[in-house]
Amino acid sequence: MTGNRAVTDVDRPSLAVWKFASCDGCQLTLLDCEDELLAVADRVRIEHFLEASSAVGPGPYDLSLVEGSITTEDDIRRIHDIRRRSRLLVTLGACATAGGIQALRTFADVDDFLSVVYAEPSFVDTLATSTPIADHVDVDLELRGCPIDKGQLLEALTALLAGRAPNLPDHSVCVECKRSGTVCLAVAAGTPCLGPVTQAGCGALCPRFDRGCYGCFGPAETVNGPALAEMLDRHGLSADEIERRFRTFNAWAEPFRDPPVPTGAGETPVEVPAPGRGRRE
Ligand code: SF4
Ligand code: SF4
Ligand code: SF4
Repeated sequence: MTGNRAVTDVDRPSLAVWKFASCDGCQLTLLDCEDELLAVADRVRIEHFLEASSAVGPGPYDLSLVEGSITTEDDIRRIHDIRRRSRLLVTLGACATAGGIQALRTFADVDDFLSVVYAEPSFVDTLATSTPIADHVDVDLELRGCPIDKGQLLEALTALLAGRAPNLPDHSVCVECKRSGTVCLAVAAGTPCLGPVTQAGCGALCPRFDRGCYGCFGPAETVNGPALAEMLDRHGLSADEIERRFRTFNAWAEPFRDPPVPTGAGETPVEVPAPGRGRRE
C-alpha cells in the first residue's frame, strides 16, 4: 500500500530483460532467485522477459537488464533502440561487459571458424568481432561474472529501485579468499590462479573448492598484470598458456585483451593500462 491507495501496475517501475549473443545463463540467475523472485516481481512491472513470459510491453522501460555481446549489425541497431527506450541500463555478465568467450573470434579470422563449425557458412550473418554493450551505448552499471552472482544482482536491483548506489566490491578475489579463511592455492600448492587480477563477487568460489580462479569476473579496478604473468611463468605456464588464461571469459576487457607477457627476472614489467568500467572511450 502507498498511503491509503493500493499499489497498481502503473506505480511499479517497469523492467525489461534483453538477450544478445549469450548462453542465457545470466538471465537464468534472475529466475534462479527463487524466494526473492516473488518479492522482486511484486516491486516491478515486468514488461519484457522472454525467458519467463511471451507477454511483451511496449516500453519505455525504467530498468533494462542486458545479457550478451554485440555480434551482428542487427544487434547494433537493437541495442541503440533499447538504450533510447530505457531510463537505466545494466549489463549482465562477461558477454555483455567484456565480449564473452565469443570475443576470442576477435583475435582470429571469423571466416575460419565459420568454415569449420557450420555446414553452410553463407547462412551465418555475423560481425568479425564480439564487443561489450558499453562499446556501443552508455551503460549505467555493469555486473560481472560468467554467470553473474545472484547476491550482486539482487543488491543492484534493490539499490536501483530504492534510488541509491549499489554496494558492489571493486577489490580482487584474493580479498575474498582471505576473508573466508581459504589457504592460497598459488602460494601453498603452486596452482595457477587469476584471483589477484580478478574482480571479487563470487566469494572466491573456485579457490574454496581447490581450483585456481579463471577470471570469469573480469579485471578488478587496480591490477598488476605483469606481476601475475611473472608468477604464472614461475608456476610453469608457457607464454601461450598465460595468454589463454587471461583471455578466456573476458577476452575483450583490458588487460585481458592484451595479456602481459613475463619479462624475465630483472627486467622492467610492461605497463598495462588500468581496466575501464562502464563506457569505454
Ligand atoms: S556471461 Fe556466461 S553465463 Fe552469462 S550469458 Fe555469457 S556465457 Fe552465459
Ligand atoms: S588462491 Fe588465488 S584468489 Fe585465493 S589468495 Fe591465492 S591467488 Fe588469490
Ligand atoms: S573464483 Fe574466479 S573463475 Fe571462479 S567463480 Fe570466482 S571469478 Fe569466476
